[in-house]
Amino acid sequence: MRIARFVHSGGIAWGVVEGAAGAGPDPDFDSLVLAAIKDHPMGPIEFTGERFAIGDVRLLAPILPSKVLAVGRNYAAHAAELGNDVPERPLIFLKPSTSVIGTGDVIRLPADSERVEHEAELALIVGRVAKDVPPEKALDVVFGYTCANDVTARDQQRADVQFTRAKGYDSFCPIGPWIETSFDPSAVRVRALVNGAVRQDGNTSNMIFDIPTLISFMSKVMTLVPGDVILTGTPEGVGPIVNGDTVTVSIDGIGDLVNEVRSVTEVRTG
Ligand code: MG
Repeated sequence: MRIARFVHSGGIAWGVVEGAAGAGPDPDFDSLVLAAIKDHPMGPIEFTGERFAIGDVRLLAPILPSKVLAVGRNYAAHAAELGNDVPERPLIFLKPSTSVIGTGDVIRLPADSERVEHEAELALIVGRVAKDVPPEKALDVVFGYTCANDVTARDQQRADVQFTRAKGYDSFCPIGPWIETSFDPSAVRVRALVNGAVRQDGNTSNMIFDIPTLISFMSKVMTLVPGDVILTGTPEGVGPIVNGDTVTVSIDGIGDLVNEVRSVTEVRTG
């Protein structure tokens, strides 16, 4: 089941996406139908009877997390391209909830970075309160999966001891376009395209620490609560995005997360 969050004339709602959008751009995307549901999608699904074409609404980030957890250097080839060793244990960090945007929203380039890069990642959404979860039970706490872009000011990441500034700007965590609740994350293709050109083409089977390991490790540190988002690391091929670019994170079996890139000064004046 695919669950989207959207704005329509009557307000904000979640809805179940009808129609089978496959991998890559769906030529019929705008005509896919959203069947609106009552209340929150983590409860029992009850439909309101309202139906909307996706082309007639604006999609939002599919969830508003209390926190976004992420992991650095979780693919060996990506660690190597940045000149880093593979870590002995998951290298985790937080992105603020205010960095989250949805598909169609604008990634805003801060004025004080010379190099902002895309990082295509598979993300999961936590569905229940979880603390000290053993790996063998970790997938039980997952509500679903979505595409994410761990946007990073690479020059600031290199300059600082930790990642908060480089990865924490408003708009630096696009997620979407929706949450896929029926999904096997163990071996799926994760791509980033900039202006239609493929920049990253990885597979989750190459993760150093798999998803159960990540959930278990993170839940030993802090309690995971419903709606929390976990980014699972990026494969090799990260590179710059600049004013005017369109960046797409495409994950087979989920769909496409598409965001335009604008310099913050242009957004303010434009
Ligand atoms: Mg990342």
